[in-house]
Amino acid sequence: MQEEKLNSEHKKACANCGAELKFKPGSHQLKCEYCGYEEFIEQNKSSFEELELQHYLKVVGENAYTNTIDLLNCKHCGANQHVEENYKSLSCVYCGEPLIREDIEKEGWILPGALVPFQLDAKKARGIFKNWVSSIWFAPSNLKRAALDPEGLHGLYVPYWTFDANLYAAYQGQRGDYYYENRRVRTKNGYRNQRVQKTRWSQASGSVKGFVDDILINASQKKRRDIPSKIAFWDTNKLVTFNSKYLSGFVTEKYTISLKEGHHQSFQEAKHIAHNWIRRDIGGDTQRISHSDIKLSDETFKHILLPVYISSYRYNGKEYHFYINGQTGALSGTRPYSFWKIFFLVLFIIVIIAVIAIFAE
Ligand SMILES: [Zn+2]
Ligand SMILES: [Zn+2]
Repeated sequence: MQEEKLNSEHKKACANCGAELKFKPGSHQLKCEYCGYEEFIEQNKSSFEELELQHYLKVVGENAYTNTIDLLNCKHCGANQHVEENYKSLSCVYCGEPLIREDIEKEGWILPGALVPFQLDAKKARGIFKNWVSSIWFAPSNLKRAALDPEGLHGLYVPYWTFDANLYAAYQGQRGDYYYENRRVRTKNGYRNQRVQKTRWSQASGSVKGFVDDILINASQKKRRDIPSKIAFWDTNKLVTFNSKYLSGFVTEKYTISLKEGHHQSFQEAKHIAHNWIRRDIGGDTQRISHSDIKLSDETFKHILLPVYISSYRYNGKEYHFYINGQTGALSGTRPYSFWKIFFLVLFIIVIIAVIAIFAE
């Protein structure tokens, strides 16, 4: 097993005043919140490594750990969380359940190869929430309070697996070309010609090949929640080589979907891509694929971390969430409706209609 230096054990203290340094979103710097001291995060010039997949799956196996990490496991929702700095109080990013520092356990993990650093700071993220909350109708007043509560908003690095491979697929199928026939149909006023679409099928076979780049698989599996697909787009050209300094001030989640399981899911994605290529290769107006033999070679993977802001709160015993992409600022949220606000609006409309009806008499 590879011996990596434990980056995460390095203390990130301010050279000026000794306080804790935190990553400053949108930059490549650490910043002291007390005295303003800033420190550059040294950039690794070499591009980050793609790890050879078969080696990990067969030789090293499921327990392919290259590092250890301090983790807190949420008893309520099962999310594994790591916090870089010496936090005072802590609650689960996903469900708000309080976490106890004494429960920290050291666990092995495959050290991330790269990450997309946060571009938005918490203040900007809160501003986006605030605009959204004030723009929606019928939201209970507590919702506004929840969105504005600084304790309720956490920046989270979410784990993903990405896979690259050369894809080759041999296929058999049929190509369908449309043609039209006129048919006489009976109508109320006698007979009339109607144009009907038909398909002429012909045999097709061949092969497609190409490079499949960066199939992204979310590696965090919780009981109920997932990052909404609406915000799950990151510019992976902005990936930088992993450095634990970027984690300072944020929560990091450890993958709960194993490399093997992630690989299995990525094959389903690859199959989907292959079928699109095959359909294009067959051509015509419509296609049938009766058999396809898909082979992936030179497979590599990366473990990467992607930035998201999450706000979760409970209202009438139910959990609600907002998510903001920490790179693009895209937002997705669920929220309750206020019964009373809707009730009074409906009542108001009924009164207006009644008044109009009375005056119309
Ligand atoms: Zn300082
Ligand atoms: Zn939780």
